[in-house]
Amino acid sequence: MKRIGLLTSGGDAPGMNAAIRAVVRTAIYFGMEVYGIERGYSGLIEDKMMSMEMRSVSDIVQRGGTLLRTARCLEMLTTEGQKKAVSTLEKHGIEGLVVIGGDGSFRGAKALTESFGIPTIGIPGTIDNDLQYTDYTLGFDTAVNTCLEIINKLRDTMNSHERISVVEVMGRHCGDIALYAGITSGAEIIVVPEIAYDMDDIIMRINRSRSSGKHSNIIVVAEGATNSEAFAKQLQELTTYSVRATNIGHVQRGGSPTMADRMLAAQFGNKAVRLLKDGIGNRVVGIHNNEIIDMDIIEAVSMKKHFNYELYETLQMISM
Ligand code: ATP
Repeated sequence: MKRIGLLTSGGDAPGMNAAIRAVVRTAIYFGMEVYGIERGYSGLIEDKMMSMEMRSVSDIVQRGGTLLRTARCLEMLTTEGQKKAVSTLEKHGIEGLVVIGGDGSFRGAKALTESFGIPTIGIPGTIDNDLQYTDYTLGFDTAVNTCLEIINKLRDTMNSHERISVVEVMGRHCGDIALYAGITSGAEIIVVPEIAYDMDDIIMRINRSRSSGKHSNIIVVAEGATNSEAFAKQLQELTTYSVRATNIGHVQRGGSPTMADRMLAAQFGNKAVRLLKDGIGNRVVGIHNNEIIDMDIIEAVSMKKHFNYELYETLQMISM
């Protein structure tokens, strides 16, 4: 394979730039050319791309966001759109494609592979950690660390005023950000989309912590489970505590990637190009039990994400 394309798609995630760098540099190392496609599948359909050199990816390893920009593209869901994408690839002699994004983006890659025979490799780039086949997705670690920084600050002021802080984090269908941020920030309670919550039980846990000498509480809620404002209001009405809501919001998507995310980016990007170089496509890369793996893209997108109940129980045992 002499020429490959690269795009970032779906929601952005810290570490995407570092992955772009790893893909471009590895490809150049193996004597391959790389075309960077702008704004995900939209750029592919509209033929918006640039040739990427060694220096095109200088000074980006530490930057959040994606220099290729990203977009959601409805046209890619149609056969017509997919045909346009394929004709752009053919026009430029691009033989394989690396797609950095979440499961939706992988479905786009799968369509190009299944219906048109274009070899594609998916790199999991999403803060949600909502893909079952990989232990971690790119951007998740940075997003959780951003949440921790904010929760640490909230804890200071909640303690002074003896309040309850309800902190909303991202995660529409997957509670991993809430779970990991909850455990590592010392939150007493997390509310996730995977488990129905019981307000009486939550109040009982808060009362118990207060009677054992605690002055404040942290409750981390995932956006897919409840809304922090509504939840705080309900809790305020049912108790005598002072409750405050904070929605962390889009801050979670930005920022310089952590070491863990930069390392994943380097390994995922490198592995993706090595596969294409060997003529292997239709795969996604990931990490499992500390090893970089690759898996059939169709198998990967059909796996249902499992919630880690053991970690949830751990939180309940150690945070009180
Ligand atoms: P995130 O997890 O951050 O939301 P994502 O990759 O899952 O990222 P989506 O919006 O679901 O984000 O998908 C990104 C893009 O992938 C879509 O806008 C569309 O262009 C393409 N895509 C999604 N699903 C399909 C599909 N079934 N067939 C073809 N293309 C698809």
